[in-house]
Amino acid sequence: MSVLIIGAGIAGLTAARELTQLGYDVTVLDKGRGVGGRMATRRIDRARADHGAQYITAQTPEFQQCIETLRAANTTAIWQSEEAVNYVGTGGMSGIAKHLAQGLRIELNEKVVRVAAESTGWLVQTEAGNEYRANALLLTIPVPQALALLNDSDCRLEAADCIALDAISYEPCLTVLATVERSGLIPAPGFWQSPTPDVAWVVDNQQKGISPEQPSVTIHASSSFSRENLDGDLEAAGRQLLTQLQRRIPAETVGVVQVHRWRYSHAERQHPAPFLAASAPFPLLFGGDGFGADSLSDLRSGVERAFVSGRAMAAFIISRVDSARSVSVG
Ligand SMILES: Cc1cc2nc3c(=O)[nH]c(=O)nc-3n(C[C@H](O)[C@H](O)[C@H](O)COP(=O)(O)OP(=O)(O)OC[C@H]3O[C@@H](n4cnc5c(N)ncnc54)[C@H](O)[C@@H]3O)c2cc1C
Repeated sequence: MSVLIIGAGIAGLTAARELTQLGYDVTVLDKGRGVGGRMATRRIDRARADHGAQYITAQTPEFQQCIETLRAANTTAIWQSEEAVNYVGTGGMSGIAKHLAQGLRIELNEKVVRVAAESTGWLVQTEAGNEYRANALLLTIPVPQALALLNDSDCRLEAADCIALDAISYEPCLTVLATVERSGLIPAPGFWQSPTPDVAWVVDNQQKGISPEQPSVTIHASSSFSRENLDGDLEAAGRQLLTQLQRRIPAETVGVVQVHRWRYSHAERQHPAPFLAASAPFPLLFGGDGFGADSLSDLRSGVERAFVSGRAMAAFIISRVDSARSVSVG
């Protein structure tokens, strides 16, 4: 059974690992230059900054086990707050994804632009003009992007699937990354929640342990500020957020500044089940952090929800193959 997975975020990587380990012929396609999706880390001057997910929590035994393996490999460390045990990537969150990607067949810089059902399975075409074929297709990209892709491909879903997928929605998030003169501008352990109505989070990447060479901060705007400024002047929005934090992060301590727009950050309305298997001629699964409201309701546990979704999609494919085998044996 061959499987194509679109998206090398935590959901796609998790599904790919499970299936590859069992001998399935798996290819992962991602439009990015690296793996991880929203588990993203950037270099800014000599500093490092996580600009998507900041930390992970682990509620399910399966994810706890995954975290233990990552800790044993020195890829993940504890970032303790008063209330909770949080985990971070030792070299940034993207390091976790890089570790999980080891040994997988992943094609980067491959933006999927068309999906079509052929007589024996799926055909996927990329912007670069390459074609990939497989028996099963897993879409682990944010659902509005997946629906747009299918729409542009003239690939029609049944009404019930459309309704279920349309109900999933995401919050946007504007993110400012800035190098700063010194660490410790915000209190230990280096994260500061809701300091102003427009700022949801400020993180000190050096206190967090991922930017030893040069201090840097990551600022996530609140969802209302992000919505209002999503398609506006990003530089101006970034300046506005920094001005609001002047008292703690004085302008003269700020060096290089970058502003990033996440159109889809957290899944605010999720599908109840960990994935959706669409009615289609061949297996077509939708998954990622937009799924699994019934298993994990905490909005902030997007990484774990995506992991759970990835595992559930892999289990579905495996069960389909097993039942096809038992029918042919019987
Ligand atoms: C600012 C921010 C802060 C966050 N903070 C936290 C946090 O602290 N804790 C937490 O648990 N979660 C957090 N999250 C959410 C968390 O990052 C996500 O829930 C999780 O990473 C989603 O994983 P995924 O695999 O479902 O999707 P993604 O990581 O989005 O992966 C999808 C992949 O698909 C690729 N892709 C998209 N379209 C195409 C295409 N057409 N062709 C090929 N590839 C394509 C993308 O490049 C991407 O790599 C945060 C997110 C953001 C943005």
